[in-house]
Amino acid sequence: MKICVLGAGVIGLTTAWCLAEAGHDVVIVDRHASTAKGASAANGGQLSYAFVAPLASPATLLKLPSLLLSPDSPMRIRAGLDPALISWGARFLLACRPAAVRETIAAQLALAALSRSELARLSQSLMLSFGLRTAGKLVVFRSRREFDTARRMITAKPGEDGQQVLTPAECLALEPALRLDASELAGGIFTASEQIGDCAAFCAGLTLRLRRQRNVEWILGTEVIGPVRSGGRLVAIDTGNGHVQADRFVLCMGTASSAFARACGFYLPIYPLKGYSITLTPAPGAHVIRHSVTDMERKLVFAPLALDGHTAIRVAGIADLESNNTTIDTSRVEILRRASAELLGMNTAGDIEPWCGLRPTTPDSRPIIGWSPLDGLFINSGHGMLGWTLACGSARLTADMIDRKPEANEASVFALRRAA
Ligand SMILES: Cc1cc2nc3c(=O)[nH]c(=O)nc-3n(C[C@H](O)[C@H](O)[C@H](O)COP(=O)(O)OP(=O)(O)OC[C@H]3O[C@@H](n4cnc5c(N)ncnc54)[C@H](O)[C@@H]3O)c2cc1C
Repeated sequence: MKICVLGAGVIGLTTAWCLAEAGHDVVIVDRHASTAKGASAANGGQLSYAFVAPLASPATLLKLPSLLLSPDSPMRIRAGLDPALISWGARFLLACRPAAVRETIAAQLALAALSRSELARLSQSLMLSFGLRTAGKLVVFRSRREFDTARRMITAKPGEDGQQVLTPAECLALEPALRLDASELAGGIFTASEQIGDCAAFCAGLTLRLRRQRNVEWILGTEVIGPVRSGGRLVAIDTGNGHVQADRFVLCMGTASSAFARACGFYLPIYPLKGYSITLTPAPGAHVIRHSVTDMERKLVFAPLALDGHTAIRVAGIADLESNNTTIDTSRVEILRRASAELLGMNTAGDIEPWCGLRPTTPDSRPIIGWSPLDGLFINSGHGMLGWTLACGSARLTADMIDRKPEANEASVFALRRAA
């Protein structure tokens, strides 16, 4: 079968690999001249398999007024009366119900487990080098209420994958590079099995391997403009350079997936959640964090990544709702810069490589993986804050569902109908 993958971010590339591996002829189309130039370019690097905290939750709902009103808040709305945000927001409120949150966590954990084993398989069999490391992840909480809620949601038994509840003093003993006073913390949760890795380097390595595949064709630097239908079925896509025909199409265009869906005649609830990262090079001999660290209150992540043979600290966070605006706002970068100086004592005066990306986010924080209402079009998109973590499992599920393998039938928790 000839299958056209729309979008060459981490989701499109992993999908293309699984489809090519299954023997399909694959065509990859992207508007950029090279791969992973969207949200996958400089993300936080955390592979969070065991600790999933959906954005839509009763806790977020409670904090929403203070989150939206404080100028230094990690979350901000600058979208005016955007009808797309209003429809998305209404669904987000419904997704904050405890039953919906429980369902999301269970679904994410299952997909994360599949992703972990698929990432290990891919990186070993293809000999990909992207700094993959089981660094362990420490989540620190400043609010007692948030800490208590997180403790109740612990997903693995102690010892099973090393998930431990820590006192403030234990957090600081585990990660002495943190410049925090124990009195500032309510506690922490440490998951020894969590991993980190550079998503951009993974995508670059996978791109090279895909280029060696005879059954993979590339159409880069080419904008997908819209669908071409015949007899109620998607038969081609319209690009600036003509039509691309295929038997099936997989939509992996990140935040642009919803506009393509609209052109196909259906609603895809994916909204851009803008985030920022900076990348810091520690001074020689500096005492740096060894694990990845999440500051839950500030919604910031810090990861010691191996980039081009040296250790760099990737600091990422912020969740701004401002439609498709990809301009870097220096006041938002300043939040990351200040936090790095305060929490890690890092010198942020030099080059900090500021970057922003749009997370393709669904109201319930679950990706949409399944057939669309338009015949011939499959969706693998909307991975929000966990796209790097969930990419390989989502790609596996996509290839198995397209090939109608029986084990992929369980995926109704990711179907479009639960979200639209
Ligand atoms: C600041 C930040 C930190 C993050 N940290 C983490 C983390 O620590 N761990 C984690 O798991 N996840 C993290 N994420 C989330 C993760 O990066 C995303 O979920 C993931 O990159 C989404 O991948 P994607 O392939 O769906 O989208 P993208 O990478 O955006 O790819 C979409 C592709 O579609 C192409 N495209 C779009 N429109 C068109 C068109 N019309 N024609 C042709 N091509 C088109 C684009 O060029 C792009 O290449 C973070 C995200 C951000 C922004």
